[in-house]
This record gives sequence, structure tokens and C-alpha cells, in this order.
Amino acid sequence: MQRIYLKQGRERPVLNGHPWIFSGAIERIEGEMESVGVADIFDNKKNWLARGLYNPKSQIRVRLLTWQNEDIDGDFFARRLAHAHALRQRNLSASTNAYRIVNGEGDFLPGLIVDRYGGFLVCQFFTAGMALFRNDIVDFFTKDNAIEGIFERSEGRVGDEEGLEPAIGVLKGESPPETITVEENGFKFLVDIRRGQKTGFYLDQRDNRAFLSTAVSNRSVLNCFSFSGAFSVYAFAGKAKEVVTLDSSKPALELAEQNLELNGFTSEPGEILKGDAFAYLKEVDRKFDLIVLDPPSLAHRRSDIDAATGGYKFLNLHALKHLSPGGLLLTFSCSQHLSIDLFQKVVFGAAVDARRKANIIKRLSQPIDHPVSLHHPEGEYLKGLALRVLD
Ligand code: SAH
Repeated sequence: MQRIYLKQGRERPVLNGHPWIFSGAIERIEGEMESVGVADIFDNKKNWLARGLYNPKSQIRVRLLTWQNEDIDGDFFARRLAHAHALRQRNLSASTNAYRIVNGEGDFLPGLIVDRYGGFLVCQFFTAGMALFRNDIVDFFTKDNAIEGIFERSEGRVGDEEGLEPAIGVLKGESPPETITVEENGFKFLVDIRRGQKTGFYLDQRDNRAFLSTAVSNRSVLNCFSFSGAFSVYAFAGKAKEVVTLDSSKPALELAEQNLELNGFTSEPGEILKGDAFAYLKEVDRKFDLIVLDPPSLAHRRSDIDAATGGYKFLNLHALKHLSPGGLLLTFSCSQHLSIDLFQKVVFGAAVDARRKANIIKRLSQPIDHPVSLHHPEGEYLKGLALRVLD
């Protein structure tokens, strides 16, 4: 086990429970400096502070797991996983069998995401430290008889920054079928957990989709960045008079078409559109009563923020221009680096330039299965505003 001593004055965030220690806070390391593993953290006066997972290759050198003197072993993970699992069991309705069981830092398990899709789980290990405990994590979920198989999808940017090799494949049990049918609030969705975006579905928009369905009766809806059409399904269910579904991805739109059908809805020809939402919003020559803007993250790094705000402003400006009087805009940013304050300012700037007056009728965020640690506010990545324009 490594022993990591912090520079003088750098112990405050650790004492406050923030789970990350950056390389710049470290004074000296005793033990195997080159290997990934469990590390004890001390302040400059050699007082023990916390225990976490060390990775010499990552800018975030340590992700803290505990502030108590407890062993980091299978029992530790079983306790943390049970704590996370219990929240979902208690709070999600029986008509939803697709949800996030473990939300990284938000469940005090930095580096781990576990999503449930019916009988299958998808695990993502984002840090080399957490990946060391793969078997303990799989063992915990194997005890649940409802689980037919566990699939791993550890890939993407965060893993690259950690020096973690991508790992995709079956971890335990059955191999998942090409698509799985899951239920969300009683609606059916096809999910491709092997190849679909994220772990196959945007579980984080569940509550916002339910909100949309209460607001669309007899309205025309434009669902931009639709992915597999989930907002469109809820729009039809809420008795929208017309729903246009737009995405740039062909596989996403194929799923969208099937998802609409699966729930007993059909789009008219020309209402499922493959295209660039930026271009469409600029050029379309008509108005809508409700527009959803749910773009992918436009800022992956802090340094992308300037460019990203330009993108968000463009989208919101053109969406606001295309709303009918009294129309609604449901606008989102899922960029962790863009604060809610800045996002709201950008949307405000867009409204000023579009010469529309709007009020905020609801603030939208991530649902209960995507909790945010009070000690790690960065985990609140999804922010949204429901706006209503005046005239
Ligand atoms: N609202 C969706 C999730 C959106 S994720 C849901 O509820 O499931 C973002 C989506 O934007 C992805 O499906 C991606 O294919 C799409 N996308 C990315 N760039 C785009 C662009 N320029 N124009 C249209 N769609 C785009």
C-alpha cells in the first residue's frame, strides 16, 4: 500500500470529503510509486486522513473511497454497492426496469458506473484503480437472481486519460441479445447495450421526459438530438398533435422508429429526420409549439468552454426564434464543465438576440438514480431549463 503525504495546506478538500487528489497536491509518496493500488493519505504532519485508489498515470492521482479506517476489499464494495442499490429499490417504480445502480462519485464509488437494463447490467470502469476490483463488484451483483448477465463497456475518453485499456465483453452469465426491450415509466424501449451510445440509453432524462409529456397536449413538437426517440415517445403519449424527431445518427433513428412502433405510435412520413440540428434549426421555415434541445456534451474539457458556449448559444437562439407564442423550450447541457449559472447566461444571451421574452417554468436536472455527492458538486452534469416564451 502506498503512503501519500500532501503538501502543507492541501489537506482541506480531503477533510471536506472531496474525492479527488490532484498530482499538484502531493508532497511525497512512500511505496510502489509506479503501480496502481490502494493508498493511504496523510497530511504534512503525518496525520492519517483517508484511503483511496492511486494511479500514477492519472492527473487525478488518487480517488478517495473512505475517510474511515476500513479495509478496501470485497466486503467494502459489497457495503457500498448495497447502499447504492437500496436507493433505487426504494425510490423507482415497478414500471421502470432501466436505471443507473451506481453513479460513480455520486454513490461514493469514483470510477464506477453500473446501469441496469432489465435482466442485464452494464458496467463501466473509468479508473485503473476501480478496475482492480472488477471481480468483487461482479460477485456482488451475481447474488441477485434477477440478473441474467453482466456486460462490460469500459471505453472512452476518461479511461484513455487513466491509461486504461478499453474492455468490452461479457463479464458474467448470459451474453446480451442484439437489443433488449426495457421499460421506463411503463413505456417500452429497445436498447443496444453492446454498441449503443453511453451504455445504450440516456437514463438521465427519465424525469424530464415525464415532464414533457405533461406539457405537449395538442402541441407540435420538435425533438432535436433525439437519439432513440425517447422524448418523442413521451410526446405522443402526452397527445402531441405532431412530433418531429431529428438526429444525425442513422442507427439512433432506426431505434427511434422501432421505439415509436413498440409503444403504438407512428410518425408521418418526413417526421423522422436524419440531419444536423444546427443547420436544421437555422434553416427550417416554420414554427413549433415545443422544442427539445438535448445536444451531446459540447465541452469535454475546461478549455472547450468558450467554443461550447458559442454552440449552445447558436442552438438556443435558433430554437427560440422557431417557437410559436406561448411555446416551450426544453434546453439542456450535459457538459460537466459548464456551470448552471453560465448555461443560464448563455440561454439568456440567446433570448436577447432572438428578441424573445421568456420565463423559466421549471429547472430540469438528473433523476434520483444519478445522485450527486454533496462533496463533489462537479457530479451534477445535467442541467436544463424549461422556458416559456411570451409572444
Ligand atoms: N435526447 C436523447 C439523448 C440525446 S444524446 C434521449 O433522450 O435519449 C445526443 C444525440 O445527439 C445523439 O443521439 C447524437 O447522435 C446526436 N447528435 C450529435 N450531433 C448532432 C448534430 N449535429 N445534429 C443532430 N444530432 C446530433
